[in-house]
Amino acid sequence: MGKDYYLLFIWRGVEPKLLGPFETIKLRDKKAKELRDDHGTLSVYYPVEISQGAKVEIGVFSGDFFEEQGNITELNDEEQDNQKKCLNHCPKCNATDPDIEWGDKEWGDTQAWQNATCKKCGCEFSETYNYSYSQIDPKI
Ligand SMILES: [Zn+2]
Repeated sequence: MGKDYYLLFIWRGVEPKLLGPFETIKLRDKKAKELRDDHGTLSVYYPVEISQGAKVEIGVFSGDFFEEQGNITELNDEEQDNQKKCLNHCPKCNATDPDIEWGDKEWGDTQAWQNATCKKCGCEFSETYNYSYSQIDPKI
């Protein structure tokens, strides 16, 4: 089965455009070079090869798609309302040290929690940390 040759052009990293299909790799690559001449290194260019006749649709996530949810997934509405990414800040009033009174750290299998009390607005909250990696410390 043959291939269709496309060129994925992402204007300044934000606006994807799928160009093609081109009949040959050569034609596709020529177009890539033309675009590169016009748009320079701020935009990105990827060769795409798919099975002949297959259809590829490239979409975009809206600007707030990642911002609002962060890495927080699969939460019910109440949890979403209560969770916020605000390391070292009160999630309610945004106060930071020295207005935060940090409590004990609690450890789970893959996560740790630290409880905190905001002295400014009085709310109690906890910060959750994910395990990132283990490292052997160099011998001193
Ligand atoms: Zn607060």
